[in-house]
Amino acid sequence: MNWISNYVRPKINSLFSRREVPENLWSKCPECGTMLFHRELSDNLNVCTSCQHHMAITPRDRFAALFDGGVFVDVPVPAPVADPLHFRDQKRYPDRLKSAQKATGEAEAMLVGEGEMGRSTVVVAAQDFSFMGGSMGMYVGNAILAAAERAVERRCPLILFSAAGGARMQEGLLSLMQMPRTTVAVEMLKEAGLPYIVVLTHPTTGGVTASYAMLGDVQIAEPGALICFAGPRVIEQTIREKLPEGFQRAEYLLEHGMLDRVTHRTELRAELITICRMLTGLPPAVMGDLPAPAEGPEAASTASAEAAAAVLNGDPAK
Ligand SMILES: [Zn+2]
Repeated sequence: MNWISNYVRPKINSLFSRREVPENLWSKCPECGTMLFHRELSDNLNVCTSCQHHMAITPRDRFAALFDGGVFVDVPVPAPVADPLHFRDQKRYPDRLKSAQKATGEAEAMLVGEGEMGRSTVVVAAQDFSFMGGSMGMYVGNAILAAAERAVERRCPLILFSAAGGARMQEGLLSLMQMPRTTVAVEMLKEAGLPYIVVLTHPTTGGVTASYAMLGDVQIAEPGALICFAGPRVIEQTIREKLPEGFQRAEYLLEHGMLDRVTHRTELRAELITICRMLTGLPPAVMGDLPAPAEGPEAASTASAEAAAAVLNGDPAK
């Protein structure tokens, strides 16, 4: 009867124990250790409800929270030459790309979307740190160029969310060439007199910090984001000195004049709407709720006021 206790019983037990609550419903805040329910966490845009630690958020989830009613269209990005250097480390570069595409469900490390924010058109580009460390290769260069071209075509602001470990090693010199290339893209916007707003998210480092991520008309960062060219560990080992508390974090950079704002993720949308309206010469957005529409001849004017209020609430139905 040994096979019953050794084989059949564990099999039966494992079948039934699968009905337990899946583990991924809860995630642990890496900062304070609080267990957070997945819905509570996604409602708060992946910010810990207990200590306000900003966790990573995918570009698509970010866009859903940013655009009016979560509606946007992808701006197509031309595909670059695949694996020009035939690069290979532990894995071949094309295989590495394929597994990143499978894990994230995205084509590459940057997503570009066009839509409305506060009822005016914007183009938004967001870098995905979960895709090979958000590294800047030829595709990211193409994406920024496509985003800038679309913004110029639509005569609207470009908002960019940066998150990167730097240039993509697998593309060697070609990835470094994206630094001047993206700078030219930003210059296109400046020549057209259009706002370019950068939101630096955790972490923004290396060649990205040395190019398009630092060229915004307004530089905003999310709280606690690491923003640097060389990381703190490298600097510490080079100068053999202990670095000050909070070195290269968003708040430290704000204090030292490198940033204009440090803004909580849940307040970003309203702030970006205000900045875009200011820089494009539009009147300020209507804030807050307005009274319900009245009956009679005044109804028409109240309805338009309500439509204006809907702008900030991001309700496209009104
Ligand atoms: Zn926390």
